[in-house]
Amino acid sequence: MIARAARLEKIPPYLFAEIAALKRKAIAEGRDLIDLGIGDPDQPTPLPIVQALNEAALLPETHRYDETAAGWTPFLEAACAFCRRRFDVTVDPASEAMLLIGSKEGLAHTAWAFIDPGDISLVPDPAYTVYKVSTLMAGGETYTMPLTEEHAFLPDLAAIPADVAKRAKLLWLNYPNNPTGAVATPRFYADAVAFARHYDLLIVNDAAYTEVYYDPADRPPSILQTPGAKEVSIELHSLSKSFNMTGWRLGFAAGNAEAIAVLNKLKSNVDSKQFPAVSLAGAYALLNGDNSATIEIYRKRRDILCDGLNALGWSVKKPSATFYVWTRVPEGHDSMSFARLLLEQAGVLVIPGIGYGAYGSDYIRMSLTVLGDKEGERLAEAVERIARLRI
Ligand code: PMP
Repeated sequence: MIARAARLEKIPPYLFAEIAALKRKAIAEGRDLIDLGIGDPDQPTPLPIVQALNEAALLPETHRYDETAAGWTPFLEAACAFCRRRFDVTVDPASEAMLLIGSKEGLAHTAWAFIDPGDISLVPDPAYTVYKVSTLMAGGETYTMPLTEEHAFLPDLAAIPADVAKRAKLLWLNYPNNPTGAVATPRFYADAVAFARHYDLLIVNDAAYTEVYYDPADRPPSILQTPGAKEVSIELHSLSKSFNMTGWRLGFAAGNAEAIAVLNKLKSNVDSKQFPAVSLAGAYALLNGDNSATIEIYRKRRDILCDGLNALGWSVKKPSATFYVWTRVPEGHDSMSFARLLLEQAGVLVIPGIGYGAYGSDYIRMSLTVLGDKEGERLAEAVERIARLRI
């Protein structure tokens, strides 16, 4: 037998396995599945961005290793210009920003860069699984911060015991939030920054969804807008959802210069950054990208799904950001049993909330990124099928 590293045993069981098996079965049976499971923009990358890649790929200098410290200057400058234009935040491209091969990579390596065996990281629940898994693989321990509806899906920092907070090195946040769709308020960010300063820890804010919002009045803030935030935080941005570029693998970290240097030290020993042509196309997207057409598609789907389910007597809150609808399962069900029922009896695939942590066990996540849906007809069909169920 080939022995593998013990750290891999720390990866919790894959809770979507049962749903994935049922999905395969439904597809093998030729059923028409409406897949509300995938959190990946269904719309293509806008043509001007693809054209920017075409042009950049023709430049021989992009064909070589990126030997810069933190990414090609045009990309870092565009990232900082984006932070200024979008959040009115000043970030120094030379010391406070670095390229990531997508934010997932950046998040995972952040744990490796800051967590030693025995260290604690404060992890929300429900949450994108990378914060917890990468902490555990680095030998750390996690302390769960419940995200509850009563608390607007924001962690209750005051409820964290002082001895835990003192031992904690990282505080993971993610707003706009996957899976709950919640948006952090400037007030919450101010509390988080004060907490981090008090306990001398680093905030890692996963900001992958800041550009997926429906109303200018609800524009999600950046934690870097908070006075003093740069002393204690880094924010990880992604081009994946903002510009429909998930497959391109591009993002950036911005914030505290010392923390950026630490992450960079680790990363420069494990990867060689991204194909520079991709980063030039990313620079184009950050400077010129316009996702309003995509947002209008999501809006239509969101309204059809939420209004439709509410007309059936559900109580679904429309998200003001993200393309996720997070809603409670009916009495008598848990997230897994309800997801199974929807899949088997309605051919509608949703993600059981338990997959994001124990505090998700009464919820399901429905994603609006439905492949092949043009005018919301697949969402309307999903609602019709659900209406026919006896729940
Ligand atoms: N953070 C969150 C909360 C996500 O949902 C995702 C992807 N689903 C990512 C980070 C990773 O995005 P990427 O690696 O494509 O930038």
